[in-house]
Amino acid sequence: MTTFTHWRFHIDQQNIGWLELDVAGSSVNVLQREVMREWAQIMDNLIENKGLTGLCFLSGKKRGFVYGADIAEFDDLKTKADVYESIELADTILSGIEALDCPTVCGIDGVAVGGGLEVALAFDRIVVTSSAETKLGFPEIHLGIMPGYGGTGRAMRRIEAKNVLDMVLSGRLLSANEAETIGLVDKVVKDATLLRKAVADELDHPEVPDIIQTDSDVKRAVILAKDNILSRFHREQTPAPFLICEHFDESGADWRALVKSERTRFSKMLLGEASHHLRRVFLLNEMVRKSARGDSQIKTVHVIGAGTMGADIAAVAAMSGFQTSLSDIDAEAVYEAVTRAGKLFERRLKTEEKVKSALERLTADPEGKAIAKADIIIEAVAERLSVKQAVFSAVEADAKPDSILATNTSSIMIEDIASALKAPERLIGLHFFNPVTVLPLVEVIAGSSSTQTSITRAMQFAGQLKKMPVKVKSVKGFLVNRALLPYLFEAIEVMVSGEAQDKLDQALIWFGMPMGPIELCDQIGLDVCFDVGQVLGMSDIASQALKTKVDAGQLGRKSGSGFYKWDDKKAVRPRSDYPPAELDKIAADLLAPMIEKCRSAVADGIVDSADHADIGCILGIGFPTYRGGPLGWADYPRV
Ligand code: NAD
Repeated sequence: MTTFTHWRFHIDQQNIGWLELDVAGSSVNVLQREVMREWAQIMDNLIENKGLTGLCFLSGKKRGFVYGADIAEFDDLKTKADVYESIELADTILSGIEALDCPTVCGIDGVAVGGGLEVALAFDRIVVTSSAETKLGFPEIHLGIMPGYGGTGRAMRRIEAKNVLDMVLSGRLLSANEAETIGLVDKVVKDATLLRKAVADELDHPEVPDIIQTDSDVKRAVILAKDNILSRFHREQTPAPFLICEHFDESGADWRALVKSERTRFSKMLLGEASHHLRRVFLLNEMVRKSARGDSQIKTVHVIGAGTMGADIAAVAAMSGFQTSLSDIDAEAVYEAVTRAGKLFERRLKTEEKVKSALERLTADPEGKAIAKADIIIEAVAERLSVKQAVFSAVEADAKPDSILATNTSSIMIEDIASALKAPERLIGLHFFNPVTVLPLVEVIAGSSSTQTSITRAMQFAGQLKKMPVKVKSVKGFLVNRALLPYLFEAIEVMVSGEAQDKLDQALIWFGMPMGPIELCDQIGLDVCFDVGQVLGMSDIASQALKTKVDAGQLGRKSGSGFYKWDDKKAVRPRSDYPPAELDKIAADLLAPMIEKCRSAVADGIVDSADHADIGCILGIGFPTYRGGPLGWADYPRV
């Protein structure tokens, strides 16, 4: 019998074929082209073997079933013909499974998503384990695409159109029980030890689920989906949900038609700009997660400063399993921070026991006695050089020689603070974003003498806090503020030159930013913008506009008025409609300084690559993922 690199196949004494996927060189099963080519060869043998009494499909991995197509390989598909060819290969295999004249059963333990679920749907019966790791779904929408291996059609045989549309449009993953309830799978067993037998037993129930639904059922589901979903998207920017609705609308209840027609719209989406960026951003997120893998060897954390940032950093550390202590010159602030952390734990942690142990891990330590034992000491006190230097001189005298010293400064150079230390190489920056409990980005700041070991351990520590770290050189504003502020100052200048502030904000919201730049200035605080402008530099026009407001006590949201009036934490903004072309032009003009700063950050080695600049701005500024980050967007080859 031929041996394969990624597959195991044998026929047992009952003439049942057992096909197991175990992709070589990968911890999980992904449907790479080579894997599919080998499967096509196996199918040739299977089709010729007339004596088979059944075919069973399982994963040969300990972790998971099949995670879908290889996202990186999508980049090799440059034309519609390339896309069609790759779909044709999958279609030949999966239609071949359907055409076998013996019963077929697929067994799933763990993740079966995207192409993984599409594979399963080609089998007569599907058995899954009820393990918490078992998840089924079509998350393709997050990559700006839809299923392409016939998944929309084959799912329609089993579940109602409204459920198929929900899965495809939301990308939501279902548990085994949810999948069974809607009819997506036929049988649920408790765990993996029972799977093989349950799969074999299911061969005795060869009937293929095929529910009856009409074209009007599908049309009704499409109308509902359009009402619920489409108002949130713009076709020009994120075409996938629109094309998906059209796909179902046109093919109706004919599942074979859905299988066949997927490729037209799938290729349009895959070759479009939004999917290009979303796939890249998916890989960038993976890159960041990988850079944060590993054990930092940090067990105990001490945070100095129990204000807005320090209190939340300590809470997140305790919630993530670290023994954490918190100090402040104001003892009351420490006790208040611990009480606030308790409320956060109650909201975030599911059981009373977990809340209790997180609270046990967080110690109010107003005098900083635990500094001597801490593996990392994070400073989050007032943003003044002399204060920070004094704090670190004292810390250096108390701390263990191998503990990491980290500052959460947002604007002071690491070298300036470190100059007060006997061993300046011990200091690094850990720049968290506000609110720490929500925002994932942490800029890990390397001063010119910071040791690589401290940086690596700090990246791992951030990963252990479930944060997304990006390494940045110590320069004014680091990456995110260095890129963000010039864009805000540009918007202020254009506003001062006579453009309606609402139009500027509308332009960036249309572009996909969570908030327009003028409203964001108000949100940050015009005093803070002014102060940061002093550090980073800004034009006289922007400086004057900010100073006038600050002098008048109009600080933005916190004072009830700034560039806008604020009512109940909302900017009072007219929100008029403007022509998209005009908004596109404004957005491009205002974003130019941000793009420029990202380019120079790469050129000057402030970040490691354009990928790091882009993911930093996506995570730290909310630059829209489907635009790919400032550089990804600026450099996309548009015709
Ligand atoms: P904050 O004013 O809310 O809290 C500062 C705390 O430090 C106060 O509780 C104060 O009592 C305490 N403190 C001051 N001097 C001290 C000392 N010598 N020893 C011990 N405690 C002392 O400030 P914050 O907003 O939490 O900012 C803290 C740091 O984080 C600053 O460096 C700031 O630039 C940075 N940062 C702030 C934000 C933000 O949005 N607030 C975001 C990123 C970084």
